[in-house]
Amino acid sequence: MSEHDRIEDRRITRRGSLLGFGGLLAGVIAGAGPGADRSEAASDDAVGPAAVASGAVTCVLAPEQTEGPYFLAGDTVRRNVTEGKPGVPLALRLTVVDVSTCRPIKGAAVDIWHCDAGGVYSGVSGQSSARRFLRGIQRTDANGVAVFRTIYPGWYPGRTVHIHVKVFLGGNVVHTGQLYFPDTLTDAVYRRSPYSRRPGRDVRNTADSVFRNGGRQSMLRVTKNGSGYVGAIAMGVHRS
Ligand code: FE
Repeated sequence: MSEHDRIEDRRITRRGSLLGFGGLLAGVIAGAGPGADRSEAASDDAVGPAAVASGAVTCVLAPEQTEGPYFLAGDTVRRNVTEGKPGVPLALRLTVVDVSTCRPIKGAAVDIWHCDAGGVYSGVSGQSSARRFLRGIQRTDANGVAVFRTIYPGWYPGRTVHIHVKVFLGGNVVHTGQLYFPDTLTDAVYRRSPYSRRPGRDVRNTADSVFRNGGRQSMLRVTKNGSGYVGAIAMGVHRS
């Protein structure tokens, strides 16, 4: 077990305070089109109380997951976090909704961070402290959507592939979680360069100590987009 893994194990919290959207809503979001820079197509009809009442939208409790040892405060507000890091293009469409109303929240700050194709995080010991690749913050739009441009994450020993996320409202953290990918998709991506230079990832989703506690509710809905992918998920939060 790696040091990172041990730390993440210790920091696991299970407040279970969040709702995620499953099923159809995720499909609606993922199917809204590959144009990751366009305004999200999710309307009130798609995500509002009427959609919940009709069964078109299901609110599913998703537990909090540890932030791990590599969160850095003060990330830059930017959509493109790649800083030239090589990898398969990945757009993220992360929707924030109010669990009490199931309506999207505008203006939430969504902070993401993940490792590069070689399994390395920026800003860790041994690197220049100025480097902040694959980290960034975006504010949600009127449809509750924050969009990022990044690359498919690599892997590091002891963990399945993941992206860390925090959601802030009015300066308060309202969600800390991790986002996951289907293992079969990761297998396909890792056959491509530069991931293929580093074979032998050691942990898949079901064997991951963090994924085990709620990871199924934190799966990105991934669709192809040119040579890359779009990953989408809705994260339900309490406003305070
Ligand atoms: Fe991590």
